[in-house]
Amino acid sequence: MSVSPPRLQRLIYRSRQSPLATADLEFEVCNIVRSSIRNNRQANLSGLLVTLQGYFIQALEGLPEQLEDTYRRIVADPRHIDLEIISSEPAPTRLFRDWEMCARALSPSDAVIVDSLDSREQFDPRRLTARSARKLLTGVAQIQRRASFSLAG
Ligand code: FAD
Repeated sequence: MSVSPPRLQRLIYRSRQSPLATADLEFEVCNIVRSSIRNNRQANLSGLLVTLQGYFIQALEGLPEQLEDTYRRIVADPRHIDLEIISSEPAPTRLFRDWEMCARALSPSDAVIVDSLDSREQFDPRRLTARSARKLLTGVAQIQRRASFSLAG
């Protein structure tokens, strides 16, 4: 009997930080990461969260059922509004396997932002496409990995 491989799914969405989050963004992001690590470990989800220009951009990957349950909780969170799914698709492998959740604050002038632009226009989180969002998040993942490596070395 053949065993079918797990049906991994990757979700990328963008949301606007609400005043609840922006009052003390660093503190709120710490809280979010703490509960995300705890919950995502149980649900076998991996992902990455970026804060940028008043927006959250998050990738989450895992089995569809766990992903949907978690996203339902995330949608109801008053720390952000105007959630918009940028992409939701089957994933052959995990791109963010190193983290149950990890967050990084970016500014528009960071090289990873400039590299992710589809064209020469100014960066605008509202205009992220599936391609540019994935490029941005995988670029951030590379930076995170290099940072952990140099800390370990
Ligand atoms: P706890 O973390 O113990 O929190 C208890 C309740 O209080 C929850 O209902 C929570 O929504 C609420 N709460 C906590 N702090 C605040 C606050 N400062 N203001 C308002 N309400 C608050 N959760 C995940 O499990 N995985 C994720 O990947 C994930 N990503 C997130 C990304 C973003 C951008 C945001 C805003 C939230 C994210 N969350 C994530 C958190 C999620 O929305 C839920 O808050 C969390 O999953 C609830 O976990 P818990 O039941 O263990 O409750």
